[in-house]
Amino acid sequence: MLSNEKNLVKELDWVNIAFLTVTPLVAFLGTGVYVYHEGVRVWELLNFFLFFVLTGLSITGGYHRYFAHRSYECNPILKLFYLVFGAGAFQNSALRWSSDHRDHHKYVDTEQDPYSIMLGAFYAHMGWIFYKTPPHKNFDNVPDLIKDPLVLWQDRYYLLLSSLVGFFLPWMLGAAVGRPWGGLLWGGFLRIVITHHMTFSINSIAHMIGSQPYTVEDSSRDNWWLAFFSNGEGYHNYHHRFQGDYRNGIKWYQWDPSKWFVWSLNFLGLTARLNRTPDEIILKARLDTEFKHRGLHGCLSDPRRIREARIGAAET
Ligand SMILES: [Zn+2]
Ligand SMILES: [Zn+2]
Repeated sequence: MLSNEKNLVKELDWVNIAFLTVTPLVAFLGTGVYVYHEGVRVWELLNFFLFFVLTGLSITGGYHRYFAHRSYECNPILKLFYLVFGAGAFQNSALRWSSDHRDHHKYVDTEQDPYSIMLGAFYAHMGWIFYKTPPHKNFDNVPDLIKDPLVLWQDRYYLLLSSLVGFFLPWMLGAAVGRPWGGLLWGGFLRIVITHHMTFSINSIAHMIGSQPYTVEDSSRDNWWLAFFSNGEGYHNYHHRFQGDYRNGIKWYQWDPSKWFVWSLNFLGLTARLNRTPDEIILKARLDTEFKHRGLHGCLSDPRRIREARIGAAET
């Protein structure tokens, strides 16, 4: 756990604090006042939905499953798409996001975990962003990304790109139908805030509420309703156990649009070598974890216990 002493040393990032405070105010109060006076047009809902999908999938399918985990290979056109629209989600550059996220997996639940749940739900959710990146932070854990000119280009022009894609484009689309402020509020502010908290919830709720079918070695949880709001990222216990898998929800009925997106693009030649954990390794993880849940360590030689665990694993 991060000591209080270390916490005090961390410097507050007032730009981040202002952004994370003002955007929800404008998103909810501003949109509320606008709707009260001007009503809602279907174009505004479409604007919201369009940018929600484009920027949301760029974070889950792109930043997370491609840049941070390299769970598949990606055509440069798709990579550029992820970098441009991912910037519009206002969650930092892919380089910095991935570096933090690789540390999260490597040091999960310890003081080196950038959004450790051990420091509380609020800290893991968004409190950690209230602090400046430590000056000693290096990018040793992203040697592949630091060599990628496209990734470096996005990191360099992140602020310009995020403002253009996150605010200016939705505003322009609104202006095209004569309602620029509606476009800015629905496709810009409201969508940014919802996408923010969708991602933040994986770092907080998915480390607190839900089941642990694949590992009990860390605090991660599988949470189906969170998956529904987060493009499939709610199956976080599976993800922590098998972080190199391009899927988070592995069953056909589990809501994982990020997986479907990456899988579909395979047919267009935009993605390749999709990494799937073999079924028998997944089953072994389920059985091992079921044994641990039942306090049956070291019973793998007992066929009756194995059968019980297998039934238990199948039921959960
Ligand atoms: Zn996690
Ligand atoms: Zn991850």
